[in-house]
Order: sequence, then structure tokens, then C-alpha cells
Amino acid sequence: MLKIENLHVSVAGKEILKGLSLDVQAGQVHAIMGPNGAGKSTLGNILAGREGYEVTAGTVSFDGRDLLELEPEERAAAGVFLAFQYPVEIPGVNNTYFLRTALNAQRKARGEAELDSMQFLKLVRQKLAVLHLKDELLHRGVNEGFSGGEKKRNEIFQLALLEPRLAILDETDSGLDIDALKAVADGVNALRDAGRAFLVITHYQRLLDYIKPDVVHVLADGRVVETGGPELALQLEEHGYAWVKDRIAPQA
Ligand code: ADP
Ligand code: MG
Ligand code: MG
Repeated sequence: MLKIENLHVSVAGKEILKGLSLDVQAGQVHAIMGPNGAGKSTLGNILAGREGYEVTAGTVSFDGRDLLELEPEERAAAGVFLAFQYPVEIPGVNNTYFLRTALNAQRKARGEAELDSMQFLKLVRQKLAVLHLKDELLHRGVNEGFSGGEKKRNEIFQLALLEPRLAILDETDSGLDIDALKAVADGVNALRDAGRAFLVITHYQRLLDYIKPDVVHVLADGRVVETGGPELALQLEEHGYAWVKDRIAPQA
């Protein structure tokens, strides 16, 4: 589904990703771990097409298409979803309205009919049921005064509505509270599907106590330095990132 080869990315003239390669199949959950400043968020941002990142070498193909050629909206319509590390608050804009607008923009870009409010409400009820959520967050302003856990629940709900092929979840390095952590994990587990892949970016191992990844990668200094199964996350927990730092070959 997603194939990244020898990706080099610079931010503000500084090389951050230095030859990153990654292969993600449909149905898989990949965890991306790594020390602060390794380039984890840069990876998520470059996949979503955020501004300010320059690809200097390498390729990214998504469902056989050149992802880097697509505009951010085209990537979203193609099924790439990036959950924000720090979700924006949009006070006064009703969350339900916001979500319907986002979904319809994607449907329109795919040439599908837009949903009217009745159709959208029906979909909302289905998704709330799948995630065992109540509708209380839908009547408020977008992320307005949401707690950490509520923001995460809202993000997962957004994911459920948009039904992306590839969901990228970038978690804060400062760590989520247990509510937020469980909201993310429950959501990912409920939305795991043979046609969908997840890239779960996390500094900490504890999220992976709740989400069992198929593959774990360790990113350090802009490259994948280790790839393994769930046991790799446990090794990191035990030995810390110093263990992988020792393995990074000095760059010429
Ligand atoms: P991680 O998510 O693994 O902690 P990031 O991808 O956020 O790492 O950052 C990797 C490196 O890129 C860091 O050294 C960071 O300071 C730098 N960086 C990221 N974004 C910017 C930016 N917009 N301007 C300048 N430097 C940046
Ligand atoms: Mg960071
Ligand atoms: Mg980060």
C-alpha cells in the first residue's frame, strides 16, 4: 500500500530524513518509535503533504501512485489521514458541521455524491456505535475546551467517519494521559481492517500495550535503524534509546 524508498527530507535547509525506507501492507499496524528529534513527526507531515518540507531524494508510492505529486487535499481524498499532534481549536464552529464539511470535501474530490444532513446523521450514529461513543462532543465547538482524552476521542471519531486507507497517528512526546491513550488504542483496534493500514508514531512503548502492532520500526537520526515485531518495543522499554543510538553508523 505504502512504499517509501530512500526518502531524504529537509526542513528550513536542514536535512531531517536521511534515507528512510518503509513498506506498509494493507491491514497492518506499524509503530514508528524513536528518540526526540529523530524525524518521526517530519515523516507524518511529509506523507500528509504539509507545507515547509522539501523532498531532496527518494520516492513515496501509495496504492501505486506517486504520493509526492499529489496536493494535500488529493492525498486526503486518496485516503491518507494525519491526526494532528496538537489539534486546533475552532471555537464557535460546530463540530458536526466541521466533520460533515471535511467528509463532503473528500467525497467531492473522489467524484462521489455529498451527504445531506440526514444521511450524515445516519452515518454519525453508525460510527458512534462502532466506537461506543456518545454524541456529546458533536454539539460543541471544534476541540473547544476539549480535554486531552476528548480531543483524542474526537480525532478517532474523525478517522472513523473519513474511513482512510492509511491513518497516521502522531502522539505527543510529552505523553498522553491514560484516558487519551485508551481512546486512541480502542479506536485503532475497532477500526483495524484488512483494507486499512495504520502508522502509529509514538515515543513511548506504553501505547503499544494496548495496540498490538504487526511491525515496529525504530527511527533515529532520520533513518529506520531497527525493524522487528512487538518485542522490539519491549526491548526499547528495557534498554532505552541509548541502545539504538549506539547502532547508528556515523554519517560521513
Ligand atoms: P520527532 O517527531 O521524532 O521528535 P521531528 O520530526 O519533530 O522529530 O523533528 C526532527 C528534527 O527536525 C528536529 O531536530 C527538529 O528541531 C527539526 N524540525 C522539525 N520541524 C522543523 C521546522 N519547522 N523548522 C526547523 N526545524 C524543524
Ligand atoms: Mg518531537
Ligand atoms: Mg514528533
